[in-house]
Amino acid sequence: MRLKHLEMALQRLQGFSRPNARLEQYQTPAPLAARLLYDAFMKGDIEGKWVCDLGSGTGVLAIGAALLGANASKGVEIDEKAIEIARGNAGTAGVHIEFIAADIRGPVRLETLSGCDTVIMNPPFGAQSIHTDRPFIDLALAIAPVTYGIFNAGSIQFIETYIRGRAGVSEKTRGILPVKRIFSFHTRDVKEIEVEILRLVRNP
Ligand code: SAH
Repeated sequence: MRLKHLEMALQRLQGFSRPNARLEQYQTPAPLAARLLYDAFMKGDIEGKWVCDLGSGTGVLAIGAALLGANASKGVEIDEKAIEIARGNAGTAGVHIEFIAADIRGPVRLETLSGCDTVIMNPPFGAQSIHTDRPFIDLALAIAPVTYGIFNAGSIQFIETYIRGRAGVSEKTRGILPVKRIFSFHTRDVKEIEVEILRLVRNP
């Protein structure tokens, strides 16, 4: 599947019905999701691989991975309503994905997810409460040798320090995340947030 087709397929998916600000439910827009997935695909991290999406929301990343030929694709999400939408979206896209309703900070995580080849995630940025992305990074490094994550621009230094001794950053790609006015604390209709997609590689 070409990049353009992937983007079009992701564009058709349904978003959060009532996004929850506390959970930082921002759906990754199709162009940014397609970019992350296609880069990962070109690096050989998707096709034939077991891919896990942490905080899978409405399923965009997990579904995109499946469309690019992931061998198996799983999503973990705390919000049951988002999972319902994600299951519908997987049906629309014609792919099979196991969506697991769980808190990624909870105990169920390791046994169900270990052995995963690649993690893809757009974790909460910690805009609402500080360091919310840390448990996502910790779990990702625990279950997979390679992780792609979307972070606020400028996070790379903090993340490099945080993962030192466990993993390193092997690629950085800049992107734009247009955030629509969905929460009452937003003051403008659309705000563009600069982000960076980081590829983390676990130390051998
Ligand atoms: N991956 C999706 C959603 C990103 S928004 C996409 O790219 O569009 C971040 C998601 O993480 C939200 O759906 C939110 O509900 C979920 N989330 C936040 N904290 C979580 C936790 N502790 N455990 C599992 N999911 C969580």
